[in-house]
Amino acid sequence: MINIPKGTKDVLPAESYKWQFVERVAREVAASFNVKEIRTPTFEATELFQRGVGNTTDIVNKEMYTFLDKGNRSMTLKPEGTAGVGRAFIENGLQGGVLPLKMFYITPAFRYERPQAGRLREFHQFGVELFGAKGAEMDAEAIMIANTLLKKLGISVSLKLNSIGCPECRKRYNEALKAFFAPHIEALCYDCKTRFEKNPLRLLDCKEEACKKINAAAPSILEYLCEDCAQHFEKVKEYLEIAGVEYEIDERIVRGLDYYTRTVFEFVASGIGAQGTVCAGGRYDGLIEELGGKSVPAVGFAAGLERLLIVMEQCGAEIPQPKTPTVYFAGMDEQSRKQCFRLCTQLRAAGVLAEIDQMERSIKAQFKYADKLGVQYVAVIGESELADGAMNVKNMATGESEKVAFEAAVEYFSKNQ
Ligand code: ATP
Ligand code: MG
Repeated sequence: MINIPKGTKDVLPAESYKWQFVERVAREVAASFNVKEIRTPTFEATELFQRGVGNTTDIVNKEMYTFLDKGNRSMTLKPEGTAGVGRAFIENGLQGGVLPLKMFYITPAFRYERPQAGRLREFHQFGVELFGAKGAEMDAEAIMIANTLLKKLGISVSLKLNSIGCPECRKRYNEALKAFFAPHIEALCYDCKTRFEKNPLRLLDCKEEACKKINAAAPSILEYLCEDCAQHFEKVKEYLEIAGVEYEIDERIVRGLDYYTRTVFEFVASGIGAQGTVCAGGRYDGLIEELGGKSVPAVGFAAGLERLLIVMEQCGAEIPQPKTPTVYFAGMDEQSRKQCFRLCTQLRAAGVLAEIDQMERSIKAQFKYADKLGVQYVAVIGESELADGAMNVKNMATGESEKVAFEAAVEYFSKNQ
């Protein structure tokens, strides 16, 4: 027996409707904001993620599924969706088209992590990328799209908002952070010691308790924002207020990716610990240029579908059950079974969900099976029904039966489904 790879999951037929529901709602919400789907490859040149996600991130440093293909090219399974969308935007000349360009994707993503609840090696993201607008309205719109989705899924979470400024603000802030952390460096975790050298901002993102404790007294980025970044942040807050979206300022939110500028945000649920962040995003005005395009401002987010489903369950969110068949045809003998097959074919063509025996069950076992399927009607056909040209239709909810002519089957079940 060969087992499933560690950190991956099967979605079985009995639960796939939950996934389909989340994906359907995500598509509907995207459409309601005029956001169009983009699909990019599952693997890309490794360098794309090194550049687009950043060499100081956990993703690039330790989580990527990288391999040499048979042509000796280094390829990587996408660990996130944004870099590929950025590459496609440049490569297809979309920056020369009409802007803003509002895109979304639903994609698997791959990260070599220690698997836990809500932390997998293959997981799925719904992401939104809004390219071309630098104004705060677009930051607010990204947040509103995420907020609308979470509401429609029945999830209640809090929105944490911060600004990490531009590279100019960050230069001064990084110095302040280094000065603050220097006396504590021995107490920091192994990763944070490297972060201290390479990218002090990332120290704030650490999930180790010891580091979190020290972080609590670190200086706030908001005191280091330049005039323009501070104004932008004020406007984002104003637009969120106009939209009626509640938020909390959290100066500890810095995001894991290198390309973020200004607005960063997370939607966080309490209860699944370090995996409580169901959705995260922000502005990344530097990305497209970093990937070799023109300077194009951008803002977006990604939500993890597995985490959304976990939190939906915790919130007791209702997921509509899949439709059960309207009718099950039970045949008593060979000739009747053929008539069942004929009627079932007609009903399916007419858009009525119908089922039939495929297992050569006895009539009693067919009734039992029909009950398990949760059908509304069982239509029984035997020798005398064939002679009459009419079947015996039992309403499973009321227990009542009536005769329905074969010719009337489509009309009868279409009306009563
Ligand atoms: P975390 O801090 O939990 O590791 P992250 O900052 O690495 O998250 P992002 O790169 O921002 O996560 O990805 C966006 C979203 O994708 C997360 O908010 C989460 O919902 C989901 N996600 C990220 N990594 C995983 C994973 N390994 N398994 C399942 N979902 C994930
Ligand atoms: Mg991570």
